[in-house]
Amino acid sequence: MEDINNLGKIVIKNMLQIPELSEFPISKLRQVPLGKLRKNNKTMLGCCRFKKNSRWVKRNNKGKIVERGKDFWPYENTLGPEDVRRIDLHPELLNLEWSRLAASVLYHEYLHALGFRHCSTFRRLESLWPDKEARLGTRKVQLNSPMYNLWINRNLKNYS
Ligand SMILES: [Zn+2]
Repeated sequence: MEDINNLGKIVIKNMLQIPELSEFPISKLRQVPLGKLRKNNKTMLGCCRFKKNSRWVKRNNKGKIVERGKDFWPYENTLGPEDVRRIDLHPELLNLEWSRLAASVLYHEYLHALGFRHCSTFRRLESLWPDKEARLGTRKVQLNSPMYNLWINRNLKNYS
């Protein structure tokens, strides 16, 4: 079993080495609590939950809030690591055989924690993860990702 906090340290260490991320508060991701999803969650690999009342805001060029949203993340950089309640990963991802995919999923969730939703910037940053085979990316990419395919077919092994 991979220790989830150790996994967090490894992912953050990798993120600190990605030049395109240098303008974001990567070190603050260390304060984000990590946990596990319910085991019977079939569709999700991971989830980034924000604190209650954390909402996106739009500021004008003087920094004054001009709009508040009902939903999360329509704009970049309006929420940050300090607004995150918890990031959860699917518990089976913490089996050592999945550690590379787990790191990639946690990277995806950490990008959410930096304030991005699935926008084009998010996808561009997601594609910078150094472990190519474990990368997630768009749905189409996911279907072509060998590691993701192994993951979704993991239970079939048990019946053969
Ligand atoms: Zn996501």
